[in-house]
Amino acid sequence: MKTLLLPASDPGTPGIAAELIRAGKLVALPTETVYGLGADGLNEAAVAEIFRVKGRPQDNPLILHVTDMAQAERYCHSIPPAAYELAARFWPGPLTMVLPARDCVPRRTTAGLDTVAIRCPETAVTRQIISLAGVPIAAPSANLSGKPSCTTAGHVLHDHDGRIPAVVDGGPCRVGVESTIVDLTEGTPRLLRPGGVAPEALEAALGRLQVDRAVLGAIDGDAVVKAPGMKYRHYAPQGKVVIVLGSRQAAAKYIHARFGPGDRVLCFQEELPLYRDCLPLAYGREAEPETLSAGLFSALRELDSPQVKRIFARCPSWEGIGYAVANRLSKAAGFVTVDAEAEI
Ligand code: AMP
Ligand code: MG
Repeated sequence: MKTLLLPASDPGTPGIAAELIRAGKLVALPTETVYGLGADGLNEAAVAEIFRVKGRPQDNPLILHVTDMAQAERYCHSIPPAAYELAARFWPGPLTMVLPARDCVPRRTTAGLDTVAIRCPETAVTRQIISLAGVPIAAPSANLSGKPSCTTAGHVLHDHDGRIPAVVDGGPCRVGVESTIVDLTEGTPRLLRPGGVAPEALEAALGRLQVDRAVLGAIDGDAVVKAPGMKYRHYAPQGKVVIVLGSRQAAAKYIHARFGPGDRVLCFQEELPLYRDCLPLAYGREAEPETLSAGLFSALRELDSPQVKRIFARCPSWEGIGYAVANRLSKAAGFVTVDAEAEI
């Protein structure tokens, strides 16, 4: 199959992409978070194709992408007032809400759950495609299962060229990490996955917010978790990722003492001079955490090679957008961290 590369700026693109979606085909779509692998979320066969192409475990549900709350109401019920408040505050944008699913949503899309995850993406071309297609678009992150997410059309082609009908090229993703997921189906709203909306902003809007344990630590393979995606090893390059905590100086000393062939350093731009002999790769500026989220997956992809055996990574503090960056890096590392201050 030849994969069409459709520029977002081309006036014909939304029509072509929407037609493919209506025909039950897969189209990779740009969003402000990461590229999604989209299909008609109400079409079981199309949804099954997403799972097949991604190699996604069947028990990992998909997010439905809609243009607004009015469309969301067609796919979920018993919507609490908080959902309307969050939509008014954060949509279009990187916030996904988990709500009770209506029967029209195939259980293949929700992986058998009676809840459904819904969001309205910011990227205009993608909202236009949803609107023209006239169906909610189910889209997980476009990467092959387990790999770092795609934040450019080039990343999508790397994983799927010749395997999917089309990619809409909207340029690099503004946010660069996936959406924040909040579960609104139980008493207290629960953060299932940190993402593009900072947890502080979400908590301020809701008044209260519980953090699911899968966000902060490794989950046992057999554990029943609320967001099934959280239990899988994720975002991981082939080499072992080790997060090195501590001051700049302590971390540099720790890494220099251990650095060897096959090792790489993933650090902040401000730290590059400290790692001249250690093949450093900077993923953004620590002082501007939104550059870290925008650059993280691209950097992890660059380091995803059989030659790279170990990656010493520097991680931002768990606050603002840094919270999601730290969560993704921790998952890539299987939550393995060392404290350089304690070790030297
Ligand atoms: P991805 O699209 O790759 O970003 O993954 C979507 C994430 O949303 C996964 O972690 C899923 O487990 C989560 N998710 C989707 N639907 C639900 C749902 N109904 N309840 C809880 N989590 C969900
Ligand atoms: Mg994903």
